[in-house]
Amino acid sequence: MTTIPPGSTIGILGGGQLGRMTAMAAARLGYDCVVLTPTEDSPAARVVREAIVAPYDDPAALAAFAFKVDVVTLEFENVPAEALDLLATRLPVRPGRLALETAQDRIREKAFFNTVGIDTAPWHPVHGVDDLRAALADLGTPAVLKTARLGYDGKGQTRMDATTDPAAAWDSLGTDAAILEGFVDFAMEVSVIVARGADGHMETYDAVQNIHENHILKTTIAPAPLPPGQRAAARLLARRAAEALDLVGLLAVEMFVTPDGRLRANEMAPRPHNSGHWTLDGAVTDQFEQLARAVCGLPLGSTAPIGRSARMTNLLGNAATDWAAILADPAAKLHLYGKREARAGRKMGHVTRVEPKD
Ligand code: AMP
Repeated sequence: MTTIPPGSTIGILGGGQLGRMTAMAAARLGYDCVVLTPTEDSPAARVVREAIVAPYDDPAALAAFAFKVDVVTLEFENVPAEALDLLATRLPVRPGRLALETAQDRIREKAFFNTVGIDTAPWHPVHGVDDLRAALADLGTPAVLKTARLGYDGKGQTRMDATTDPAAAWDSLGTDAAILEGFVDFAMEVSVIVARGADGHMETYDAVQNIHENHILKTTIAPAPLPPGQRAAARLLARRAAEALDLVGLLAVEMFVTPDGRLRANEMAPRPHNSGHWTLDGAVTDQFEQLARAVCGLPLGSTAPIGRSARMTNLLGNAATDWAAILADPAAKLHLYGKREARAGRKMGHVTRVEPKD
């Protein structure tokens, strides 16, 4: 495989904080970045060589983007697959269409997990209220109804209890494709990020615990407080998924740990992930540098932790206004994303605290 050497330009689809931190890590390795994003004044735009502001399906913008970059990656998984196809006729696109399409659609995603032998919650595809009634008859309540596409941070999902009216729940979702999932009475939510190169080599970060508030990630604890055997099983699961997708880049897999210690995959993202932000301060190679290495064909870096443990807390909404107090704490590392407006629940930055080794 050809190496895309330092000095080359990485194209990033998406202009959010994940793109911003990818560009900052790529710059440390001597790469330039160009982003394509539909949003003006995005967090990534302000740290890259150039931002092309256009819809992802604008053929002229895609052609201009392809002309300026040597390889394409993404920080946002809802880019239309056709955009990747167009770019892939011109240059390497990593990850490719299979990983993107699988992660974009919960029906494909759950079917993929099950096909490669990865457990999930029991689930059914739902394309109308009759499907929903049949799925409820099989799975019982409580259960979770989720839109197949474009759901994130708890948006596009609704919990179904014995008293929930299926017709009203279906109408409230406003979609024609969804899944109904059995409710998992989990002991913990964990995730694993794996990096995979074009040569198939993989490096995997330790499993981390994720604590959500109002369906939004609030805190990540690395490593997850689980026995080493369970953490190893979680890493193996993520590697199996990355391999089956023939993914080049990063894959984050979110899983539930049940009270009896079993793992059930919930969802995956073929890009840097919020639960990997701790690696910026807590691992030898951070996830963003790892992505740049993977897509450029460089050797992958060590995923070893620097400290005994690390805790990453998202700064949501107005929490980032506490920046002065955070900076005054010698144990804290502050990261702000440069977003102009703090809306409730919006990810404005994060803070990491690494517990040193003895
Ligand atoms: P998701 O959008 O699938 O990541 O779901 C967001 C959050 O909702 C998860 O992180 C869980 O906290 C919760 N959740 C989703 N699906 C289930 C489920 N089947 N059982 C229990 N909790 C769930």
